[in-house]
Amino acid sequence: MNLIFLGPPGAGKGTQAEFASRALQIPHISTGEMFRTAIGEHTIMGRSAQRYIDAGKLVPDAVVIEMVRERIAQSDCANGYLLDGFPRTLPQAEALHSFAETDRVINILVDDGVLIKRLSGRRVCPDCKATHHIDTLKGENCPQCGAGLIRRVDDSESAVATRLEIYYRQTHPLVAYYTREGILSDVDGSGSIEEVCQRILRAIDL
Ligand code: AMP
Repeated sequence: MNLIFLGPPGAGKGTQAEFASRALQIPHISTGEMFRTAIGEHTIMGRSAQRYIDAGKLVPDAVVIEMVRERIAQSDCANGYLLDGFPRTLPQAEALHSFAETDRVINILVDDGVLIKRLSGRRVCPDCKATHHIDTLKGENCPQCGAGLIRRVDDSESAVATRLEIYYRQTHPLVAYYTREGILSDVDGSGSIEEVCQRILRAIDL
């Protein structure tokens, strides 16, 4: 099953995609995570993507499309995959359509006020990649693996504002695109992680 998780930054796409990919036993492909890995490894692509990412802007379509095309051609994607953070523009959606079929798009809905609160208080673990929030953290370290938590550069106030503005201008039109295709399911992203997860798994049960 080929799935796309759509939604604004901070909607919980990454967290939910992690759960769903385990439940469905298909790889979770996060383009943001692929870029962060490339930046950490100082690859040429990582270096060229970094300035866009740090500013909260989108990496050019051609770069992302090629990265995803290569990734989903790998053998672990033969029985399906879950795309998190791709496509984010209409040209990306059209390119994906030209080289792969999509079974379902999960559109996670969360109010802007909640998104801003989630992103500005978000802390991530550079080692195990777990995501936490300052409201529930007791210290500076990851409760799961003990590593020192960090704040993503693009979770700064100015980058969050840019990311939300870009989401509404460039990514939100994909809701109409996939509604027309007849494969979009809206899922309420409020409530606990488990509640949202159950709603998503119900929507995926084709
Ligand atoms: P994410 O972890 O999904 O929030 O992505 C982090 C950043 O990576 C985004 O703000 C963009 O700069 C970049 N990025 C990830 N996916 C894409 C995409 N599909 N198109 C363009 N840029 C992307």
